[in-house]
Amino acid sequence: MVADAQIVYIRVHPRDNVAIIVDPEGVAAGACLPAGLAARERIPQSHKVALEEIETGRPVVRYGHTIGLARRSIPAGSWVREDLLEMPAAPPLERLELATAVPAPLPPLEGYTFEGFRNADGSVGTRNILGLATTVQCVAPSVDYAVRRIKSELLPRFPNVDDVVSVTHTYGCGVAIEAPGAAIPIRTLRHITRHANLSADPLVVSLGCEKLQPARLLAEEPGASPAQLPILGDESVIRLQDQRGFAEIVAAIMEAAEKRLARLDARRRLPCPASALVVGLQCGGSDAFSGVTCNPAVGYAADLMVRAGATVLFSEVTEVRDAIHLLTPRAATPEVARDLIREMRWYDEYLARGEADRSANTTPGNKRGGLANIVEKALGSVAKAGSSAIAAVASHGQKVTAKGLVFAATPASDFICGTQQLASMNLHVFTTGEGSPYGLSLVPVLKVSSRTALAEKWHDLIDLDAGRIATGRATIQEVGWDLFRLILEVAGGRRTWAEHWGLGNALAPFNPGPVT
Ligand code: CA
Repeated sequence: MVADAQIVYIRVHPRDNVAIIVDPEGVAAGACLPAGLAARERIPQSHKVALEEIETGRPVVRYGHTIGLARRSIPAGSWVREDLLEMPAAPPLERLELATAVPAPLPPLEGYTFEGFRNADGSVGTRNILGLATTVQCVAPSVDYAVRRIKSELLPRFPNVDDVVSVTHTYGCGVAIEAPGAAIPIRTLRHITRHANLSADPLVVSLGCEKLQPARLLAEEPGASPAQLPILGDESVIRLQDQRGFAEIVAAIMEAAEKRLARLDARRRLPCPASALVVGLQCGGSDAFSGVTCNPAVGYAADLMVRAGATVLFSEVTEVRDAIHLLTPRAATPEVARDLIREMRWYDEYLARGEADRSANTTPGNKRGGLANIVEKALGSVAKAGSSAIAAVASHGQKVTAKGLVFAATPASDFICGTQQLASMNLHVFTTGEGSPYGLSLVPVLKVSSRTALAEKWHDLIDLDAGRIATGRATIQEVGWDLFRLILEVAGGRRTWAEHWGLGNALAPFNPGPVT
């Protein structure tokens, strides 16, 4: 570890002709930079300085890749702002290399375990939660009401149950439920209803007349005929339209909840191999440090998780699209590479229907944080995926069963990505530069900051500071190991800051289908 090294800027790759300013105060005009360079103007923290003159039309290079072409000549020492860059086209999907550089497996990591809850279906929970799943938004406030009463009147008698959660959402009716796009929200909700942290044993609250009937929500096979749908007992489903008055509705929910709570309370944490973890990765509120601190550290931890036999999900199609040429060679087989391309193409077409493209991804906060465009953001974002072979690809909302590094297609939107990853994950790692207090009610969300300043400002929201990497106080490997150990501790019951404060963002299933 280097103590208090005076790092002025970070250049990631020897080919880079820009670097990121490290000092929280930025640098002043005329400030002396390494190698005899002088700042030509004030440059804020996390923004880019030109390390050499970049002539008009020449590539601006970061991470060893072109993030844009210079719109005019950029003298050395200039602030390379967003408006100086012409964004390159996304890599064409027709000429990508398929599984041509598959990384060799790293040595397995043996003996890493966590204390988890084993479920009858073979899945493992990181939490022991009573979930009241719902088929439709119409019932959500009634279920919320019942959950408030369950938490105050029943839960104190069941100390081994971590929480009671109403699994509510905006889907279920008023939608074209036979349209092709409907399969995505339905399967997402199906897998969430059977979530490992809800003991994979759903208690479902239904209205009665909704399009998403309980049997359809829980059908094993999408598109199953009515005869193939599961027969659900009264113990599993409560239909509000079968009850007389609100008091009876609440009593029915509470009676069913009490039976479940007794069952859940009898469960105990048992040692489980790290391979039982399904860790979802995502970033939100990224800045230019994300790609050099938190995301590479998460990538290192992702490699450790893969070596320990776990499943690691990376997602966010619009933040992968501009780096797809770096990922298809890493696919374990040509088939996996073709699956990656299929997901990119599907999303290109989805965006095109809305007269948008992947450049619609970046936010004002990303740009304030020094990210010029989606190309720069994507190159930093995919660092979360580490260096392992990509073992499998899952479409939107599909449940991931493969081990190793898996691309699980989702939009990049934090709350939609998190909702879709919940179809599979039992723990979530979220990196942030600008800061987000994001959390989920069903899984622990472990937040990693890109900058120490954010970790200090939000000392009671950020779980791990990766900004130490930028100032030379820790290496990517050290923070990666810290995160790996923290993942196992949190999986075993240590609470994250989001859990401490009870922060659970609303579920937001991705519905690309029409609303009626
Ligand atoms: Ca995101």
